[in-house]
Amino acid sequence: MRKILCKYEILTLIKDLVYIFYLQMKCPKCGHLYSKVTDTRVSVDMASIRRRRVCLKCGHRFFTNEIVCVEYPIVIKRDGREEEFDGEKIKAGLLKAFKKQKGIKEKVNNIVNGILAEVVSKYPEKVQSEKIGTIVMDLLRASEPVAYLRFASVYKNFETAKDFALEFEQLSLNLPK
Ligand SMILES: [Zn+2]
Repeated sequence: MRKILCKYEILTLIKDLVYIFYLQMKCPKCGHLYSKVTDTRVSVDMASIRRRRVCLKCGHRFFTNEIVCVEYPIVIKRDGREEEFDGEKIKAGLLKAFKKQKGIKEKVNNIVNGILAEVVSKYPEKVQSEKIGTIVMDLLRASEPVAYLRFASVYKNFETAKDFALEFEQLSLNLPK
C-alpha cells in the first residue's frame, strides 16, 4: 500500500512540475501565469496543436496554438556575409516571375514550400545563396518555363537581349518535345 502511494505521489509531483515549467501561459484576462490544459487537439496535418486552457486564478477560458517551427540554415551571400534565411524573399521573387496568372498565390505558396523543404533537407546548417537560386531555378525550369525565364532574367542579371535569347535556346533544347 505504501509503495502505491509513493508512486502516486511521484506522479502528482511530476504533473505539477510539468504544469509549472511547460504549461504556463499568461492568462489574457488577469495576467496570471498558470493555466490548466483541459483539451488538446492536433491538426489534421499534424503540424499544429490547439490547447483549450483555463486560468488557475480567475477561471477565464482561452486557447493557445502550438505550431511547428522549422530551423532554416544561415545563408552565405556571394560576398561572404551571412544572413538569416528569409523565405519571403523567394516568395516575392516568384510572385514577380509569375506576374498576373490566375490562382497565383496558392501556386507560389506550394512552390515555396517545396523549395523550403529541399533547402532544409539538403543544407541543414549553412547554405550559399547561389545554391538556393539553383534549387529555385531547377524547380521552375522543369515545370514553369515562362516564369523560369522571368526569374532567371533577374537572378542571372541578364543585360542584353542576347543573354535572354541564349537562355531561351537552352530552355527550348531541354523542354520535352
Ligand atoms: Zn486569469
